[in-house]
Amino acid sequence: MTPARVLLIYTGGTLGMGANPETGALEPLDFSHLVSRIPELDAIPVAVDVFQFPQPIDSSDMNPQLWARLVEIIVAHYDDHDGFVILHGTDTMAFTASALSFMLENLTKPVILTGSQLPINQLRTDGRENLITSIEIAAARHPDGRPRVPEVCIYFSGKLLRGNRSTKINSEGFNAFDSFNFPHLADAGVTIVYHDDLILRPDYARPMKPHYVMDPSVVVFTLFPGMPESTVRHLLATPGLRGIVMRTYGSGNAPQLPWLMDILREATARGIVIINTTQCAAGPVQMARYSGGFLLKNAGVISGYDGTVECAIAKLMHLLGHTTDSALIRERMSRPLCGEITPVTA
Ligand code: ASP
Repeated sequence: MTPARVLLIYTGGTLGMGANPETGALEPLDFSHLVSRIPELDAIPVAVDVFQFPQPIDSSDMNPQLWARLVEIIVAHYDDHDGFVILHGTDTMAFTASALSFMLENLTKPVILTGSQLPINQLRTDGRENLITSIEIAAARHPDGRPRVPEVCIYFSGKLLRGNRSTKINSEGFNAFDSFNFPHLADAGVTIVYHDDLILRPDYARPMKPHYVMDPSVVVFTLFPGMPESTVRHLLATPGLRGIVMRTYGSGNAPQLPWLMDILREATARGIVIINTTQCAAGPVQMARYSGGFLLKNAGVISGYDGTVECAIAKLMHLLGHTTDSALIRERMSRPLCGEITPVTA
C-alpha cells in the first residue's frame, strides 16, 4: 500500500493559540507557528497536507456557514486524500462533529476532529498527542485498503468517540470529551485498540453526498421549576421558529401544566418540530415512563431517545434546511441517519 495521505484542516482553537502580549488572553495564531512546535509531524509515516482557515477562530465563533466551508474543503480534497483531521476549538467541537456527520452523507473516509486544552507552545500541552494520534487514526486502513474509521469522530485524550454522540464534559481537565450513551470507537494506550464492530460501515458503491444547507431557525428550551408561562409563550412565538430542542427532566419528564401542554400542542399544529432531550448527561428519554413525559408525547413532542442536545440541534438544522415537510422531519428525527440515536419502542 502507498503511504496514506491526510489533509489537516486548521480552524483555530486553543491548540494553536498564544497569549496576547497586552491582555494576556489567548487568541488564535496561524498554522506556521504551530508546525514549528511539533517537529514529530515530519517523522510520522503519513503524507500530511495542510489547509488553514484564512482567519483562525476561537470555536465560539463557529457557525453553519463555516460548517459548509469545511464541507467544501473536504469535497475539494476528497479524492486525493485518505482521511481528514480538523483542528478545532473544544468549545463547539461536538456541534461541528454532529453537523458534519449529517452534512457528509455516506462518508467513506475518516474525518477526525481534535484540539487541546493547553496551547501547543506550553510544556504540558495535550495538543501534541491529540494531533499525532488523530493523524494516525485518519490514516489507518484495513488490509484491503479500506479506512478503519470511515465516520466523523472526535479524538481526545486517548478516546475515539463518534462525533454525533460526543459532548464536552470538562472545561479544564485533559479528559474534555465523552460519549455517555455510546461506547468509544477506539481507545489509545500503548496501542490503538479499535472496536470495529461499533464503527459505521458506509456503502462503498455509492459516492459520499455532501450537504451544505442548514436552517438555524431552532431554539433550545431548558425546563426549570417555576418557569413563567409568559416567558414560554414568548419563546414559542418567536417569528420564523421551526424547531425546538426541549431539555426535559430525567427520562424525558416535564411538569404536568395544562398551559404548557396547550402551548406545545399549538406549536406542533403550526408545524414546529419539538424534540425531547434530557438534561441528564447519560441515559435515554423514555416518554412513556412518567405521566409528564406521556403528556408531552400527546402534545406532539417527539423523543430524542439517547441523543445529545448538540446532535439534536445539528440534525434539526440539517433536516429543516432540506424540507418544509414537518411530517418527514419528524420521521427522520425518529430514526438514526448515521448512528446518532438508538430508538426504542416506548
Ligand atoms: N475557546 C477555545 C475554543 O473553543 C477553547 C478550546 O479550544 O479548547 O476555541
